[in-house]
Amino acid sequence: MHITIWNEYIHEQNNPAVVAVYPRGIHQALAKLLAEPLEKHHGLKAEGLTITTATLEEADHGLTDEVIKKTDVLLWWGHQAHDRVEERIVDRVHRAVMQGMGLIVLHSGHLSKIFTRLMGTTCNLRWREADDRELIWTVHPAHPISRGVPQPLELAAHEMYGEFFDIPVPDELIFVSAFSGGEIFRSGCCFFRGKGRIFYFSPGHETYPVYHQPAIGRILANAACWAYQPERSGIITGHSPNVEKDWWR
Ligand code: ZN
Repeated sequence: MHITIWNEYIHEQNNPAVVAVYPRGIHQALAKLLAEPLEKHHGLKAEGLTITTATLEEADHGLTDEVIKKTDVLLWWGHQAHDRVEERIVDRVHRAVMQGMGLIVLHSGHLSKIFTRLMGTTCNLRWREADDRELIWTVHPAHPISRGVPQPLELAAHEMYGEFFDIPVPDELIFVSAFSGGEIFRSGCCFFRGKGRIFYFSPGHETYPVYHQPAIGRILANAACWAYQPERSGIITGHSPNVEKDWWR
């Protein structure tokens, strides 16, 4: 499995509060966080797993044709610079998702071009940065993404994301978060688009050490394995022969 972690990588270079939490960038923290549970719980050893990163300032935002072709699962973290992501790169990622590339959209990535295009809604929500405690509750215990996740999983302090979250009704709802302010939020949602599997996971505001917590790594590793499909292909559409009459000839 090849995982590519995309991060716009701006806050970590210009905001000391974020540098303190993610000195090497959110993408590097995620790469480190994912490796252990993928090996420990999913049996993926170094030879069967590669994790690379890509950032906004690289050529093609680090998402060249070649990179997208070999990527099985793409993680996406963006916040300040959604507008600076070029449409032709969004087209490329969108095409790959429709053909079966997995996509995990994190936190403020809810407003990214790729996520809003795939959802077809505004993807807006309510928010507050006030050190709320967040409890992440599993509402789909049979789902592979919730395997091994503590009940509830507590984030001692985090940004509040609340309803209404303007997304289509998720195809599968895995987590619902409760905040100390009383709000709730659909914090772990699965969607199917074309042949692609998409997981949105809301935890991960840049000033909190969310991506240093092993339980978060477990969720993201589970999600990567759920979203992974070994083959990429389009959906067959168009003229169809009469299967009853023709299939056996
Ligand atoms: Zn945030």
